[in-house]
Amino acid sequence: TTVAVVFGTRPEIIKLGPVIAALGPAARPVFTGQHYDAALVDTFLTVAGVPDLKPALPGIGGTGRADQVGLMLGGLTALWRADRPDAVIVQGDTNTANAAAQAAHYLGIPVVHVEAGLRSFDRNMPEEINRLVISAVADVHCAATEENAEFLLRAGTPAAAVHVTGNPIVEATRAILPTGFERRRALADAGVTDPDFVLATIHRPENADDPDRLGLILSQLALLGRPVVLPLHPRTKQTISRYGVRVPSRVTVLDPLDHARFLALAGSCTLLVSDSGGVQEEVTVIGKPLVVVRNSTERPEAMRAGFALLAQPHQILESARRLLDPAHLARLARTPSPFGDGHAAERIAALTLAAVRTPADADPP
Ligand code: UDP
Repeated sequence: TTVAVVFGTRPEIIKLGPVIAALGPAARPVFTGQHYDAALVDTFLTVAGVPDLKPALPGIGGTGRADQVGLMLGGLTALWRADRPDAVIVQGDTNTANAAAQAAHYLGIPVVHVEAGLRSFDRNMPEEINRLVISAVADVHCAATEENAEFLLRAGTPAAAVHVTGNPIVEATRAILPTGFERRRALADAGVTDPDFVLATIHRPENADDPDRLGLILSQLALLGRPVVLPLHPRTKQTISRYGVRVPSRVTVLDPLDHARFLALAGSCTLLVSDSGGVQEEVTVIGKPLVVVRNSTERPEAMRAGFALLAQPHQILESARRLLDPAHLARLARTPSPFGDGHAAERIAALTLAAVRTPADADPP
């Protein structure tokens, strides 16, 4: 049995690493090359156990959305026509996942969707459209939570195809969360001397591409009363240099960090401020408060469990104040992650192998 496990971006590599491990020799990892910046790719491939994996479709990074999906759909179709896997696993809501799910579906290969059923109901997010496309063609929907499964069922997905597995980010985070010496070294390397600091990431188009909004976010971060560490995504870096966005002296800009270093900082800081999807999940595993600088979220579970608050840039300060209430922080330390129990990857691997054995259109025995 061969299972193509497809990824193209940093968060997909992080979350599919445990799935590749759980599949063992059946896994055939395919890296499309959607993220092409080495800082977002290289160390993550190493952690996922596929250090030397070369992009299957070099040259697709940095092209527009239509070109990217079109090129990947064509490229993956040719790849799998020549060498057909028994099933294809895609993760999340990227252009890579969209194109791979379509290519597999049109070739009649079972499609397994990890992190199925997320909905922001914001059609301005390219990811939301990708989610809808993937849900339409997937055969096995691996939802992280009951609520995600509920969205799929309400949209008419057959109940037998929907499974609540949890999200493999839980085991990925637990496996790599550094302690003790490694953590202290990561802090020292990042120049963190005050343990009371804020870790921030900003990369979503709504924040990273708008110099005024980005400038406002940076100035609000500086008002939090603590040093701020900001590992900078290439997209955000580009806006800062192109428009000369002012970075306040309180905010220390770093290059993107490898996952262990990022989690070392996340596990040590007082507060996180981010617009990332994956970080909303990780804070629930490490028990930290997070201000989510976005218009909408497809991960309300983190909010409901008390870990996160959604904020516009001018609300960062007020949201931080509410999250940092000592009684609230004490509650967070005792609250389990709503995104899974750390065994999602095993369930996803088992469901995938079962789908290979009994294709959806096979006659019942
Ligand atoms: N991350 C990292 N280093 C960094 C910033 C983020 O390893 O410098 C990790 C973070 O822990 C999370 C993932 O990258 O697991 C999130 O990816 P990103 O924010 O790019 O994408 P999203 O989750 O929003 O799709």
